[in-house]
Amino acid sequence: MASFVDPTRLDPRSLDPLLDRNVAWAQAKTRDDPTYFQRMAETQTPRYLWIGCSDSRVTANDVLDLDPGEVFVHRNIANVAHTSDMNLLAVLEYAVAVLKVEHIIVCGHYGCGGIERALGEERTALVDYWLQPIVMLYRKHRAVFDALPGPQARLGRMCEINIEMQVRRVAATPLVENAWVRGAALQIHGWIYGTHHGLLRDLGPTLSSLAERDALPSIDERVLHPVEPRSSLRRHAIEAFAAGSPSF
Ligand SMILES: [Zn+2]
Repeated sequence: MASFVDPTRLDPRSLDPLLDRNVAWAQAKTRDDPTYFQRMAETQTPRYLWIGCSDSRVTANDVLDLDPGEVFVHRNIANVAHTSDMNLLAVLEYAVAVLKVEHIIVCGHYGCGGIERALGEERTALVDYWLQPIVMLYRKHRAVFDALPGPQARLGRMCEINIEMQVRRVAATPLVENAWVRGAALQIHGWIYGTHHGLLRDLGPTLSSLAERDALPSIDERVLHPVEPRSSLRRHAIEAFAAGSPSF
């Protein structure tokens, strides 16, 4: 019997394997839950907005173990919240005003290539404009960062402090301010993901009002005084994180 060989299968550039995986995924979903796509098509009701890095290893649905429809996502290099970024602002507005998400999670990750770039000397690409707030913070506090024990510690600390800075920037947008003034139950969190063990860690205080935001120490203060009191609620996550973590 003659066998038919699809020529696209022999072309290593073909994206057919991806389309095949999609078919298999959709079939499996439907097999497990026959009305799944019908429900998905009708509405989305995510409770979370994720503002994360574009890094291919840090995908919100995977690391949170959530299904499609459960988290609204904005990603860019080094999870920067530029307050003139129409993309971010449009996402933020839709998430807060229309979807009425309850939590905004700003999530960066250790070993971030964008942060590593900001700590280096090369300034020849468009991404260097994007990373400028991080570069400026590093330059301002260079003595503090350079006193850390080695480049990995420096990179890890800057990954953390960048998240804290972006939390403050998101909390300073009129969109978030107005939501809090209206009495919306909206919380902002700063988390970091460890690509080496897959665990998330809560980095700092949860913001749920203008008063809490305004009581935060400035980002300069946080650079100079990195240790922060930890609530018992956060201790479990921190201990779980530390169990498989190299020291940063
Ligand atoms: Zn990154």
